[in-house]
Amino acid sequence: MAETRLIDGKAAAATLRARIAAAAAELKAQHGVVPGLAAVLVGDDPASQVYVRSKAKASREAGLASVEHRLPASASENELLALVRRLNGDAMVDGILVQLPLPPQIAGERVIAAIDPAKDVDGFHPENVGRLWSGGDVLVPCTPYGCLLLLRATLGSLEGGDAVVLGRSNIVGKPLAALLLKENCTVTIAHSRSRDLSAIARRADILIAAVGRAGLVRGAWIKPGATVIDVGINRIAEPDGKSRLAGDVAFAEAQGVAAAITPVPGGVGPMTIACLLRNTLIAACRRRGLAEPAL
Ligand code: NAP
Repeated sequence: MAETRLIDGKAAAATLRARIAAAAAELKAQHGVVPGLAAVLVGDDPASQVYVRSKAKASREAGLASVEHRLPASASENELLALVRRLNGDAMVDGILVQLPLPPQIAGERVIAAIDPAKDVDGFHPENVGRLWSGGDVLVPCTPYGCLLLLRATLGSLEGGDAVVLGRSNIVGKPLAALLLKENCTVTIAHSRSRDLSAIARRADILIAAVGRAGLVRGAWIKPGATVIDVGINRIAEPDGKSRLAGDVAFAEAQGVAAAITPVPGGVGPMTIACLLRNTLIAACRRRGLAEPAL
């Protein structure tokens, strides 16, 4: 078996971000439009703070306008809904991102449903979810779209491939399955109640692991020559008290079996933010009826 190729998400994300920056500069020069991203953070969860900060930084670096709105952990659902409605009506805002998870007193699905679907850069609004499954061209969730771009860059056409998606969450597994179906793959979605997961996985030409269990996917689960996208981000405690990140795939075991695999970190992760910037730029063009840049 030939050496397993590493799919470099960091490099792919840098290329995409540079294209977005060029397209944003052109949009500004030609139409005086600067796409605006509003990020809403409720409470002070440290991981969420880091995510929101890095999304804002990446937006500014790409020439987009970024505004952060913070509400205390005690904020009511009505307060958050009022903020979302205000952002819906703000002409300078093209994308609204409400960082999840939300505190327990707030129903996330009601908040997501309140976002203007045209500004739903996370692609979680039920209207966008439905239109994605109907085969429409919508704002698509960022992590699944990043996976798709990495697959296209690695394989070219995905048509006819047997794709297995491990995980059925609304933010990764299900939208990625919809995207792969649109690419004319034969798609299987597996989950915690699936029987004989290893046999299901072994059928896959394209294997996606989006489960959140470090090393669940063993080398023997991978069909020789398959392309493996590891979405999992798991923090593993080391004996020295430090921690490291690991994916859902037993990475060392995949070597020499898979044709190509994304590393963790440095695979899917960097693509997620790049795709958020892409969605904001696309939303800005669509809302104004302007031609969308080819990214
Ligand atoms: P999630 O909402 O917890 O969903 C996990 C899915 O995996 C569920 O469908 C669950 O099945 C399934 N599952 C759990 N244990 C399983 C097992 N032992 N065997 C088979 N299926 C199992 O997680 P998520 O939000 O989709 O995230 C998945 C992973 O991706 C996490 O590690 C997360 O940190 C990572 N992630 C990375 C990025 C990125 O930017 N790279 C973005 C988002 C998420 P049931 O439905 O039956 O419970």
